[in-house]
Amino acid sequence: MSDGRVQILLVEDDPEERRAAVRALARTGWAVTEAVTAADALAVLRRGGDFIVLLALALPDMDGRDLLARIAADHPDTPAVIVTGVDDVAVAIDAMQRGAWDYVVGRADGSHLLHLSHVVARTLERRRQLVRDRKRYREEMEGLAIALRGTSDGVVILDPIGRIAFVNPALARAWGQPESAIVGRLLGDFVSVRGAPADLGDVLAAVGERGLWSGELCARAVEPPERVWDVTLTPIRSPEPAPGVVLGHARTAVGIFRDVSEKHALEQLRADFLSMITHDIKVPLTVILGYTEMLTDPEPPPDQIPPDILTRIRESGETIHALVCNFLDLSRIEAGRMTLDRRPFDLTAMLAHAVEHYGSTARRKGVRLALETEPLPPLVADETQLQRVVTNLLGNAIKYTATGGRVTVSTAREDGRVAVAFRDTGRGIPADEIPHLFEKYRRVRETKRTEGTGLGLFIAKTIVEAHGGDVRVESTPGAGSTFTVLLPTG
Ligand code: ADP
Repeated sequence: MSDGRVQILLVEDDPEERRAAVRALARTGWAVTEAVTAADALAVLRRGGDFIVLLALALPDMDGRDLLARIAADHPDTPAVIVTGVDDVAVAIDAMQRGAWDYVVGRADGSHLLHLSHVVARTLERRRQLVRDRKRYREEMEGLAIALRGTSDGVVILDPIGRIAFVNPALARAWGQPESAIVGRLLGDFVSVRGAPADLGDVLAAVGERGLWSGELCARAVEPPERVWDVTLTPIRSPEPAPGVVLGHARTAVGIFRDVSEKHALEQLRADFLSMITHDIKVPLTVILGYTEMLTDPEPPPDQIPPDILTRIRESGETIHALVCNFLDLSRIEAGRMTLDRRPFDLTAMLAHAVEHYGSTARRKGVRLALETEPLPPLVADETQLQRVVTNLLGNAIKYTATGGRVTVSTAREDGRVAVAFRDTGRGIPADEIPHLFEKYRRVRETKRTEGTGLGLFIAKTIVEAHGGDVRVESTPGAGSTFTVLLPTG
């Protein structure tokens, strides 16, 4: 019956009782260490060894229940069993509450002694089970901790007054502070409710009262870009509400933070884009409507009709057309529906046509426009799509160049590729903007807004890359920019 190195520590001051118990246990193979007082027993336990303690309730130096509490506190893996003549349920319950693993009532005829080794075996089995459970629990906890630390979602665990008891590295990184600087602080120090009158205290109270809360919280830091999280707060309830507790009945709450900043930024960009495109269509449309009204007036005041009225109407129409084309291109690209119809075509002729087409716009703006070409190898590409590239790059070069400036379109061969350069003497682009220039909706900040949607370069680059080509940009603020399209030949 004995279990490896496990011994029995028998704490009993009555010599006869002790002898009888030792005899009974020895018969089933148990090694027994004897202690007469609680102090002796604690001294034995302190020396070390794996014991199961059998103790009497009445000891000369201490109540057996107090000894139980000491053993439970100092040696939590040492099971203690009460062996007593006191047959009282209330005492037994009290003993169990203080940490007894079992309670054996001694009989005058010694019959309980036969039962004793069975109780010891049962207690050891329970301990084995407990150790197994604890090991499994620890492994699960370690697994969970690894998952929490490794996940890219943010995780916080709050204590009942809304203080952060745990934060995972992903969220700490997003909040720009080490985990140690976050733990112990209030959730409200880092985030607030986004776009709603609710304050975080109300949210936490709602978690306690109603359970799960989900919504958007944003970083307290005011500097852009705005950080927004889609957050779910789940309470872990306790049966009693505690006073002074923000979370009400909840003991703790676990918060899962999913970063939705990018989605929000894109939604904002789309909203800005829509208002921009509406505005940019409205301006040329007003020009068209105003001039056509003048032309259809039966008696138009002749001095108010500009000589190039038809050119102006055409240009306004083209501006609207370019905007709508870009918008449609964007939809096609986003839907993955951009297909190329590759055929051999004459790039030089296409550029000449574009330069001629933009001639009047450049002239009216006082910008000189020139085309410099050299003989090129034949190109097999989608002419219509490349026209969209040329329209956007040439349109930009003229748009961002002030009166008196110059725009030159030139072609060359470069490492077996065809290079088409759009060089202007315009305002140039700050170096830190260049890496972002080809992003969707991206526009360089400026004091007086030039019409545009930030789509042209994105579309141009997408089309060129679909052809296996590249767009290169060199620019000096205040001096001008060169956008070069490089296309593979053949
Ligand atoms: P849009 O011109 O409609 O704003 P684009 O995608 O064509 O959109 O261009 C993105 C931004 O790049 C523009 O807003 C402008 O600030 C800058 N940019 C493009 N081409 C030039 C250029 N030739 N000179 C100066 N800035 C330019």
